[in-house]
Amino acid sequence: MTAITYRLAQKRHLITPLPGPRSAELTARRRQAVPAGVGSSVPVYAADADGGVIVDVDGNSLIDLGSGIAVTSVGASDPGVVEAVREQAGHFTHTCFMVTPYEGYIRVAEELAELTPGDHEKRTVLFNSGAEAVENAIKVARLATGRNAVVAFDHAYHGRTNLTMALTAKTLPYKHNFGPFAPEIYRMPMSYPYRDAEGLTGEQAARRTISQIEKQIGADALAAVIIEPIQGEGGFIVPAPGFLPTLAAWAREHGVVFIADEVQTGFARTGSWFACDDENVVPDIITMAKGIAGGMPLAAITGRSDLLDKVHAGGLGGTYGGNPVACAAALAALDTMRTHDLPARARAIGDTATRRLRALAAEVDVIGDVRGRGAMIAIELVRPGSTDPDADLAKRIAAQCLDDGVVILTCGTHGNVIRLLPPLVIDDDLLADGLDVLAQAIRTAADN
Ligand SMILES: *Cc1c(COP(=O)(O)O)cnc(C)c1O
Repeated sequence: MTAITYRLAQKRHLITPLPGPRSAELTARRRQAVPAGVGSSVPVYAADADGGVIVDVDGNSLIDLGSGIAVTSVGASDPGVVEAVREQAGHFTHTCFMVTPYEGYIRVAEELAELTPGDHEKRTVLFNSGAEAVENAIKVARLATGRNAVVAFDHAYHGRTNLTMALTAKTLPYKHNFGPFAPEIYRMPMSYPYRDAEGLTGEQAARRTISQIEKQIGADALAAVIIEPIQGEGGFIVPAPGFLPTLAAWAREHGVVFIADEVQTGFARTGSWFACDDENVVPDIITMAKGIAGGMPLAAITGRSDLLDKVHAGGLGGTYGGNPVACAAALAALDTMRTHDLPARARAIGDTATRRLRALAAEVDVIGDVRGRGAMIAIELVRPGSTDPDADLAKRIAAQCLDDGVVILTCGTHGNVIRLLPPLVIDDDLLADGLDVLAQAIRTAADN
């Protein structure tokens, strides 16, 4: 177990119905100030958060099984991260790396070269968001190959900027009426073991995709293939073993840049530093954000030096990219991940949660699939006796969990997937309590 000591009691404790009166007041104010286009999963406002709990403005203590979408893997206010932020902010908060550079940026780049898959020569550029990292990975791939086409996959999610909307599969809510979209993006079939024909291997699924790429685009027009090694927003879809290695080998053979979007899967989440590690896949460029800096906004691309060094001076950057406070937070977060062996902790969380959820799946007839890796776990909900997605059930389960003080997120192309992304520092008792609440919510919803 981790030996981090927390300011806040690591316990679920409700003193009002949720949302409480102060949260309800903030919701009313928000309606006058923030457009409805900005959603929130739960109508409960945070006042404090630490380890695996979020304390709301009414004093309720909720269990966090979402980590702000896989961001606060080291906890919401890791003491090391907090201290590093204080220390750096006390010196300078910004100079702009493109104006007066500083060491923190270089140290993060050195760390990422060390941690990311492959022992080739690497270069790293820092940004502010996952979408910005993805945009820049595509820029580099197009410039380095002199080609235009980019392949993305069914169920993919890569962000909300114009290019990343084009890469993202799902129209509502991400793309609907926001076009026109960036051209030269081609969508290809993903390996989705639960919904693919039974017995289709990862290699066969990859061959199916490769054959479509060759027919519809041609390898010599293709700059990059971008893929989430485990899809996040699309439903925590874990491709069949062999899918990623076969695609990556084909890309290498044809001079196509293989980009792994590890924005959600990276940094110990799946039980390894990166999800690609699991099948020894070495991407040409890897995109990172979310878990990288303990909650501070930071993103990165790390890739082969021969690709990144092709870009002309001034072609990459941004005013805030690699902000010094965010860099200090990243170095502290990585230190916490190493010191407390959070990859191992992610595996232990995955074992516990998967065992519980598989047992539950044998008991109720609405769980079609339990899947994931490490502390990135999902259940796909279906109508009994079928594989028909049941999004309404997922919504009701998440709402019941919230009523009982557990923050749980949904995802999936059909909205019928419940996903667990607990902070990796969550203690065993808190995790068990959260899973009890979830199991009870599923049983109740399945009965109705
Ligand atoms: C969240 C996410 C993004 C976008 O990151 P932002 O920081 O929200 O721009 C891109 N790719 C994947 C796989 C993600 O999960």
